[in-house]
Amino acid sequence: MSSLEKRLSAAADDSINQLGESFKGSSMRVAKPKTSPGCFSAICGGTPIKEREVDVILIGAGIMSATVGLMLKELEPQWAMMMFERLGAPGEESSNGFNNAGTGHAGFMEPNYTKEVKNADGSLKTVTTDKVEHVCEQFLSSRQYWEYLTKTGKLPAPEAWIHQTNHIALGVGKDQVEFIKKRYEAMKAHPLFHTMEICLPEETEKAKQWAPLIVAGRDPKEPICMTRVPHGTDVDYGELTKSKITAFQHLGGDLRLHTEVKDLKKNNDGKWVVTTKVNGAGSGWARNKAKFVFVGAGGWALLMLQKAGIPEVNGYMALPVTGDWAICQNPEVVHQHRVKVYAPGAPGAPPMSMPHLDYRTIGGKEVLLFGPFGSMTMKFLRYGSVTDAFKALKPHNILPTMGALSRNMSLAVMLMKDVFKSSMGKLHDIRHYYPEADPDDWVFIPAGVRAQIIKKDPKTGKGMLQFGTEVVTGANGSICGLLGASPGASTCVSIALAVIEKCFGDKPDFKTKWAPKLKVMIPSWSPDVAAGDMKKVTPDIVNGIYKSTGDALHVSPK
Ligand SMILES: Cc1cc2nc3c(=O)[nH]c(=O)nc-3n(C[C@H](O)[C@H](O)[C@H](O)COP(=O)(O)OP(=O)(O)OC[C@H]3O[C@@H](n4cnc5c(N)ncnc54)[C@H](O)[C@@H]3O)c2cc1C
Repeated sequence: MSSLEKRLSAAADDSINQLGESFKGSSMRVAKPKTSPGCFSAICGGTPIKEREVDVILIGAGIMSATVGLMLKELEPQWAMMMFERLGAPGEESSNGFNNAGTGHAGFMEPNYTKEVKNADGSLKTVTTDKVEHVCEQFLSSRQYWEYLTKTGKLPAPEAWIHQTNHIALGVGKDQVEFIKKRYEAMKAHPLFHTMEICLPEETEKAKQWAPLIVAGRDPKEPICMTRVPHGTDVDYGELTKSKITAFQHLGGDLRLHTEVKDLKKNNDGKWVVTTKVNGAGSGWARNKAKFVFVGAGGWALLMLQKAGIPEVNGYMALPVTGDWAICQNPEVVHQHRVKVYAPGAPGAPPMSMPHLDYRTIGGKEVLLFGPFGSMTMKFLRYGSVTDAFKALKPHNILPTMGALSRNMSLAVMLMKDVFKSSMGKLHDIRHYYPEADPDDWVFIPAGVRAQIIKKDPKTGKGMLQFGTEVVTGANGSICGLLGASPGASTCVSIALAVIEKCFGDKPDFKTKWAPKLKVMIPSWSPDVAAGDMKKVTPDIVNGIYKSTGDALHVSPK
């Protein structure tokens, strides 16, 4: 495994693969498919199957295809590119504003990116910072690319899709207070986090200023500690996806909505044949040929890569986890909490259960989201099918799946606890963060699906569950897909760079033509250095990037 792949993925010793801890954490939701079955025209005696040939095909119109497609279109404007989306609009699955938490993950406040290091006596010594540094560097790449797109008029006014919010890490109770303090000490020392401030348990007035809802009505005997970074953002990834795809279309990219990829096979001439079917009335099939296919199908990426028959995907399975958000639309409450607050979950809990109280702007509307309350599903996409998990189960992934599930029974227990949690139980969870939460202000809405990766642990050969993201490439780089879900949309630019380097890095033009263009788009990027691996970063460099991107995206600290 290359260092890039390693760093894009969670390690085998990720907390999720460790036994013994119990989880806390929601409810089943019902999603209505937006697509309807059509008719195979050849079978029904309708029009013959269409044949098309392009240079690049992108499966799915989420944030990942949007980013890879737009970047490739800028690098090679003459290439013909088609993007197929089964739903009626781009960015309606996990990338939709209400289906994710909209956090610009920069590692400022997410407790699950810093692992505890204990002293011999079991006390907390420090926390690791390698993952959090990488996540931060990846988001700096995203900010730079979005700055470039905004300045060149390819993205609309930033207010439509990104907002500044302070990112606060919260610890409640003695152990978590200690964790937040050690986390602060370890992170503050790094140039990437030198703007981090701390609010100690005794600094009550400061705490009220930072996050009044967290403080009001709290038991004074319960200590809290917070850190804050002013460079945090809230991103409406659904709007951003739509805007990137509009830019892709303006450059000549061809988006086909209501069009589902049903099959993909490698042809004898080395090209891919991607079979599509239009959903709905007047439905038709088409055979689309391309030299390169990007599988940005979100939770369905595994099913698509399996159809492609590439051996690189053998042994992989997905574990879909979904959930609900609690949403507050009362403007009086929303205006008191223009911050994002993350706190550690139960020991060993997976990222899905790290609760957070988030200020959001979605489609121009300001709300608070709390959650997610986890839940189980058999669907790999919110508008997927209950047969998804069965379809993905193959002889080569049965053992890793059984191994990963048996090692993570506590995750199932946590999810079941959440499924059966009463409204009072959920209110109790909200009040752990916001003690004066009024139940009348909160309603529950479904979140998206995260299809977490199950695969063979390369060290032990046993099945493991991982919360990272993996770029899987096959057939000499002619097909590439993205598995996994975390940190997610925030990393779309680093992922796009990784895809382009992996699949086109050997192209004669890459160093002479593509690399200089990419350097203009993302100045901190360099060929041969994995995206998000900025070397020798100094506080001045970091300040420079925040100043430039902050001014362009209107997200400078307030
Ligand atoms: C609860 C939750 C909270 C999250 N919070 C955050 C967060 O705070 N910050 C963050 O950065 N990330 C977050 N994420 C992760 C983030 O939302 C995802 O990583 C990201 O949106 C995935 O984008 P994508 O383009 O890969 O997939 P998607 O957005 O799911 O897009 C895939 C698209 O492919 C289409 N498709 C699939 N199969 C086919 C086919 N066969 N033919 C045609 N079209 C097809 C789908 O309809 C869909 O539109 C969160 C996710 C969840 C579920």
